[in-house]
Amino acid sequence: MGNIVKNICLGTCPNCNKGKVFQEKGGFLKLKLPKMYKNCTVCNYKFEKEPGYFYGAMYVSYMLTVGQAIGLYLLLSYVFQFGNNFQIFLMIAATMIGLSFFNMRISRVIWMYLFKN
Ligand SMILES: [Zn+2]
Repeated sequence: MGNIVKNICLGTCPNCNKGKVFQEKGGFLKLKLPKMYKNCTVCNYKFEKEPGYFYGAMYVSYMLTVGQAIGLYLLLSYVFQFGNNFQIFLMIAATMIGLSFFNMRISRVIWMYLFKN
């Protein structure tokens, strides 16, 4: 289990755990979307099994985003004790934008690990 979490975080191939899934990580500041390899460079495992395969990863991404937003809300309201929620809302929104590329990458990797076979 620990290995799966580690491999997902590192973005390695769900089949051989050696090859990389992403050619380019992309990033919000670089204004670049992450770029995937079509096949694993080590074992030639096909990442996108069919067109639209990664639409389902949007649900994973959505769950990650909601989880992070709730966690961040609890943390911020505990640490800063703001009088109103608007400042917290702005900080959460900024963090979510910053994390969006990370979430996009990791949700696709999680999706592949969920439906490996
Ligand atoms: Zn592989």
